[in-house]
Amino acid sequence: MHKHHSALGLASLLKPVQPVTLVRPHAAARAARFFVEKFQGRSMYAVKANPSPDLLQILWDNGITHYDVASIAEVRLVSGLLPEATLCFMHPVKAEEAIAEAYFDHGVRTFSLDSTEELDKIMRATKDATDLTLCVRLRVSSDHSKLSLASKFGVEVGKSKELLFRARQAADALGICFHVGSQAMSPSAYTQALALVRAAIVGAAVTVDVIDVGGGFPSVYPGMEPPALEAYFKAIHDTFESLPVSYSAELWCEPGRALSAEYASLMVRVEQRRGDELYINDGAYGALFDAAHIGWRFPVQLLREPESDARDMPFSFYGPTCDDMDRMAGPFMLPADTRAGDYIEIGMLGAYGCAMRTGFNGFTAGDTVILTDEPMASVYLTEDEPQAVPSNVIKL
Ligand SMILES: *Cc1c(COP(=O)(O)O)cnc(C)c1O
Repeated sequence: MHKHHSALGLASLLKPVQPVTLVRPHAAARAARFFVEKFQGRSMYAVKANPSPDLLQILWDNGITHYDVASIAEVRLVSGLLPEATLCFMHPVKAEEAIAEAYFDHGVRTFSLDSTEELDKIMRATKDATDLTLCVRLRVSSDHSKLSLASKFGVEVGKSKELLFRARQAADALGICFHVGSQAMSPSAYTQALALVRAAIVGAAVTVDVIDVGGGFPSVYPGMEPPALEAYFKAIHDTFESLPVSYSAELWCEPGRALSAEYASLMVRVEQRRGDELYINDGAYGALFDAAHIGWRFPVQLLREPESDARDMPFSFYGPTCDDMDRMAGPFMLPADTRAGDYIEIGMLGAYGCAMRTGFNGFTAGDTVILTDEPMASVYLTEDEPQAVPSNVIKL
């Protein structure tokens, strides 16, 4: 992979015809070290946010030893790449064959579940294994999050007693897990969910060995500036300390977005301008699924030399496919003289961006290039270290 100092330099040097994925390994390394050092428990990476083997290796090299996997393909990927890693199969509805392969061929011992059917399935698939960590997924609110994960999985606290009781009997270690939804904008998301965990433990009167607060840790995007991650960690840790769990109980979390968002961005070219619509060469079926389908806003910057002195105005984007739905409403703020042939960096696409690319209509990604400059926004470069905030980090 080629290495460059900045996206701007790259645009003028290469003038790429296809979109270029820009990766910043140092940003992913910094995120991993932050969680490893500051979260007082175990941080496991939720692989679905971005399964790039390069990223998995960077996280491993920087202290992330546990991986939350949800499919047998993710199990095979991580166990092939990082044979020493511990995998936790945290999808509450799995294929029986996937459980058996994970257990017998890849050494997976931790599984999540939210029904007694799934418990029976796990026990069948593992031939009544006695060394399992079983994490019961509780249903919690997604009210504080930008993306709900509340309706599909999770047993209601009021209905969790039998499942917790039966899982306790089957498990070597019993866990309770939940997911507050992605991009949780307040630490109260976790303290409120942990209050439900407390009620479930008290209701079922079981000994719990693992509390897994899931993912949801935020990154930063235009119009979404969350409190510092330390505030989330403190709220979680303080609440965990007060829970009626076993003396040696462990605290786990499963960040996906927070560990990967700053890792990658995208350089696109404007193929045509019509008023305030820019026709660019990547879109809804490429790395911009969330921008198209849920109106997510990503930071943008024009990569032109010399710099435009025009004032910013709001633009929308059309992607390259023939589909009307391939439209990203934004608004994306760019200089008013942005025109065909210009290159744009779209930032913070390391989570749920680059991972979701398809080849629909023949439009695929071009090269991947390593950049050594800073991501366009960061939750890890704080005002306590102003010397570390470089000039290309834009104000959102
Ligand atoms: C998607 C998912 C995660 C990661 O969520 P983020 O919001 O990206 O941190 C963690 N755990 C489970 C079970 C998930 O489904």
